[in-house]
Amino acid sequence: MNIEEFREFGKASVDYIADYFENIRKIDVISKVEPGYLKTKLPENVPPTGEPWQKVLQDVDRVIVPGLTHWHSPHFHAYFPTANSFPGIVGELFLSGLGCLSKDWDSNPACIELEVRMMDWLAKILGLPGEFLNSSEGPGGGVIQNAASESTLVGLLCGKQRALRDTLKQHPNLDETYIIPKLVAYTSKESNSSIEKAGLLASVTMRLLPTDKNGSLRGDVLLEAIIRDKDDGLIPCCVVATLGTTGSCAFDNLDELGRVCSNGGIWLHVDAAYAGAAFACPEYRYLMKGIENVDSFNFNPHKWMLVNSDCSAMWFKNTKDVERAFKVKATLPKIPSFKPELEHWQIPTSRRFRALKLWFVLRIYGIEGIQKHIRQQISLAKFFEHLARIWGLSALDLGGEDSLTQELLDEISRRNKIFLMPYYYREKLVVRFVICSRFTEKSDILYAWREILSLVKHEEPYIHN
Ligand code: PLP
Repeated sequence: MNIEEFREFGKASVDYIADYFENIRKIDVISKVEPGYLKTKLPENVPPTGEPWQKVLQDVDRVIVPGLTHWHSPHFHAYFPTANSFPGIVGELFLSGLGCLSKDWDSNPACIELEVRMMDWLAKILGLPGEFLNSSEGPGGGVIQNAASESTLVGLLCGKQRALRDTLKQHPNLDETYIIPKLVAYTSKESNSSIEKAGLLASVTMRLLPTDKNGSLRGDVLLEAIIRDKDDGLIPCCVVATLGTTGSCAFDNLDELGRVCSNGGIWLHVDAAYAGAAFACPEYRYLMKGIENVDSFNFNPHKWMLVNSDCSAMWFKNTKDVERAFKVKATLPKIPSFKPELEHWQIPTSRRFRALKLWFVLRIYGIEGIQKHIRQQISLAKFFEHLARIWGLSALDLGGEDSLTQELLDEISRRNKIFLMPYYYREKLVVRFVICSRFTEKSDILYAWREILSLVKHEEPYIHN
């Protein structure tokens, strides 16, 4: 492909995507293809000679789009929002167009310096304590990771490493092989499955603790578990608190957990993957009370803050902890040209220029635009609450057997007018309702609510508060 063809292909593709969004309201939200549908539509082997881009674009339309679930349809109310915005899309185009990775500063100065500044912008938007900023006097700082799952693993590995170091300091007669199998971490039963997975990957036992009736992990439950484990000779090393659980958007009591962790010298990581974006609006910051006791904090601008995936923001109160955990001896020892050295705060060796799309979104929306987006989506959720009396991620319980709820979901799915997912809330199957698409409007909520009510056969749905 030469540069003229690249221009044509690029322009036609932007037009295609613009048309897609213009028509998204008319498209069925879930694809109805059968498993294996693609097999008959594509050849088994690579074409022996190159094909024209026009044919490829036609096949996107013919083969790929019919097999899509439309996450940005205004009728998509399943899972969680995945960010998408026009500045975010163009940002992605630029970062892949410019195509430069970075390792250290010398490998790509703009990438590192923009990321350092963008992480400070983001921290300020959320109202995080100043000590997390890259520009702070102290050792705090922030970096863009690939995903919340990866950030949790990084936080856990920091906690593991710090507990190992502290234990060796207190008991120099012990060795690593004795200490490591005794390390234990904690999270709530409501936390995302990626937390349990981080425990597996880090080889640290991850305890899933019960929550209160609001789905919140409380300090007394944590303390009890820690005392029990210490009595059994185990070594607590990390707590992963969730601000905004995937299932019901519950918030752990960070204030209480933070006090337990700081008294016990235990690493506290916050997973605010989805709901963290709400802290851009000061009226929701009460939900992160206790943030001063947190060691690492993560949220995904790629979920609810309009930055296309991937872009997961992570801050450390003391980046020396992550450097101790991750910094390996350089093959070519040299004095760094620039600090911070972000490459030592992450698992991959290199990084994409993700700060570029973050910059596009933050500049083009501004704080006001971001807040407007969050408030608009929460007001739609409240409108659904008004219709169904719930907040954020809503959960409908039909009041009868789980099978009734399943039947409703099956029928909703068969009709394909809206897309909802089930969830076990306090051991009962409920229907989750999430505001996901930035195209969703009040009329779409009414449409969804009418669709649900028209299919509830037996009685008024019971609404969880
Ligand atoms: N944590 C929470 C609370 C989530 O809701 C999710 C995804 O839904 C994750 C973690 C995992 O996020 P990621 O896909 O960025 O790893």
